[in-house]
Amino acid sequence: MLKIDGITKQFGDKLAVDALSMTVEDGSIMGLIGQNGAGKTTTFRMILDFIKADKGLITWNGRPITQDLKQTIGFLPEERGLYQKMTVEEQILYFAELHGMKRSDAREELGSWMDKLEVVGKMTDKVQTLSKGNAQKIQFIATLIHRPNFLILDEPFTGLDPVNTSLLMNEIKTLKENGAAIIFSSHNMSGVESLSDNVTMLKKGKVVLQGDIYGIRNSFGRTQVYVESE
Ligand code: ATP
Repeated sequence: MLKIDGITKQFGDKLAVDALSMTVEDGSIMGLIGQNGAGKTTTFRMILDFIKADKGLITWNGRPITQDLKQTIGFLPEERGLYQKMTVEEQILYFAELHGMKRSDAREELGSWMDKLEVVGKMTDKVQTLSKGNAQKIQFIATLIHRPNFLILDEPFTGLDPVNTSLLMNEIKTLKENGAAIIFSSHNMSGVESLSDNVTMLKKGKVVLQGDIYGIRNSFGRTQVYVESE
């Protein structure tokens, strides 16, 4: 379980995240929603200990997120980070080895994920030859290859068409059903609310809405929650 208690981050005179608290239980999905600059990526960077919070506490199962723990998290960055000149297989084996996985296990896992995600391409294809959507699926596989039980997905659906978005959402739901704690970000609740058990909405670093999706839907008085753009 991830527990965040009052984290704050200021860059110069800009308050990027202001006293954010949230809990992500095992076997649940938190949607972190907010427009550009709301503080989503800064929140993820604090959880991953890439940057230090000015204030507040972040724990995973009651312990601070140490280097060891950090290695177990499955992180999909907003800036996708595949090596274009590697083949799909080389790329995934590279990530798998960082997590101490056996090459044969990683290869098997890759094959099974490529089937599940309907990747158009072969393991021996260079990353640079893949379409944007297929490259994104490979990045998703890189995030999951070591079977993490805690996932942080920064804008996982950007650039995917509706069919592939729904394919990826179904796989994320299965990971949750298998017990993973998952947090993902999105610009807007519309389209991703069906994925979230709980939602935290940020605006200019501050929480403007937080709770379970049923309560939030009821408070909006309709089955789908739409949030107006500014
Ligand atoms: P997006 O949807 O555009 O990715 P976001 O919700 O992820 O936005 P953040 O990237 O967390 O937002 O940025 C929050 C605020 O903090 C923004 O105003 C941004 O300009 C500022 N910010 C983020 N990182 C830094 C930094 N390293 N130095 C200065 N300001 C920063």
